[in-house]
Amino acid sequence: MNKNTIRTERASVLKPKPDSATLKFGTSFTDHMFLMNYTDGIGWHDPRIVPYGPITLEPSAMVFHYAQEVFEGLKAYRRADGGVQLFRPRDNIRRLNRSCARLCIPELDEEMALQGILELVRMEESWVPSAPQTSLYIRPFVIATDPAVGVHASHTYLFCIIACPVGSYYPQGINPVSIYVESDDVRAVKGGTGSAKTGGNYAASLRAGERAEQAGYSQVLWLDGVHRKYIEEVGAMNVLFKIDGEIVTPPLGGSILPGITRQSCLDLLRSWEMPVSERPLTVDELFEAAENGKLEEAWGSGTAAVISPIGELVWKDKKVVINGGKIGPTTQKLYDTLTGIQWGTVQDPFGWIINV
Ligand SMILES: *Cc1c(COP(=O)(O)O)cnc(C)c1O
Repeated sequence: MNKNTIRTERASVLKPKPDSATLKFGTSFTDHMFLMNYTDGIGWHDPRIVPYGPITLEPSAMVFHYAQEVFEGLKAYRRADGGVQLFRPRDNIRRLNRSCARLCIPELDEEMALQGILELVRMEESWVPSAPQTSLYIRPFVIATDPAVGVHASHTYLFCIIACPVGSYYPQGINPVSIYVESDDVRAVKGGTGSAKTGGNYAASLRAGERAEQAGYSQVLWLDGVHRKYIEEVGAMNVLFKIDGEIVTPPLGGSILPGITRQSCLDLLRSWEMPVSERPLTVDELFEAAENGKLEEAWGSGTAAVISPIGELVWKDKKVVINGGKIGPTTQKLYDTLTGIQWGTVQDPFGWIINV
C-alpha cells in the first residue's frame, strides 16, 4: 500500500448529533478523527481515519513538558444547496507548516494534509450543521511524542485532525464588545513564537484574558513587548481600525499571527478600492484619533467569530466609545461579504472556496 493512502476504520457505534439550535463552541466532537505519525528516517506515514477517542501517550511525551505543538482552526460550511465547502484551507496548511518550521517540527506534505481534511469532512458530512451561521469547526494539530524529558526537538510526532459542529457566534445578533488595553502582560515578542499558532502563546495570554473578563471586558488589546505602545492583536484575533477614512492594521512583524481572516479583509478592502495601510500604530495615536473623532470603526478578525466589532476601548483611566457603540458600515460590509462567501450566498471572485 502507498504510504499516502488513507486507511479508514469506521466507528461501530455513532453518537447522537447535538441539536443545532443549542450548539456550543468546541464541546461535542464527531465520530472519527484523522491521525498520521512521523518518525525520523521514515517521515510522515500511516495516514488513517479512525473512531474519535482518547490517544495514549507516555507521561514523558515531550509535548507535555516543552510544549512542542502547533495547531490550526478552519471551518466547513453547509451551502443552501446542501453542498459543503471549505474557505482557504491551503492557507491554513501553509501556515501550519510555517508554525512547524518555527517549532522544529517536520513539515507536512500540503496535498496529504488537505486530503486528510477533505476525507475527514466527507466521512463526517452528516455532522456539518445546516442552521444559519452554524458550521463544522476543524482542528488540525501536531504534537511531539518522544518519551524523553531531555530538551531537544522530538524524533516522533502525531498529526491529528478533529472536528466539532459549532453554533452561530452571534446567537443574539452581532454586538460590539468592550476591550481592555493590557499594559502588563504581553502575548509574544519579535523573535519569539508570536507568528506561529502554538499552544504556548495561548497559555501566556490566559492571565490577562481572565483579569479582563473579571473586570467586565470581553477581551484584551495586546501591546508590543518591547515598547509597550504598539498595538498588536485583540484577544486571539487580529485587529483592524478605520481612522479618518483609512483602514489601519499592524504589520506582520513576527510577533503577530498572520490571520487568514485578516488577509481576507485586506483583500476585500483593496478590491473595493478603500485605502488600506499595514503600519505600526501606537495606543497614543489610537486614543488621540478617538478623542478627535477620527476613530470611525474597530474590529477583530478570526475564523471563529469572523468579524468582532469593538464598541469600547479602555486604557488606564481613559475610555473611548467607537461609532456610538454600534457596528460600523465597513465592519458590517466585511462581515456580510465574508460570511456570504463562506456559506456560499455571495459569489467568490478570489478562488477562496474549495468544494468538499
Ligand atoms: C488563529 C489566530 C488568529 C486569527 O487567524 P485566522 O486565520 O483569521 O483564524 C489571530 N490571532 C491569533 C493569536 C490566532 O491564534
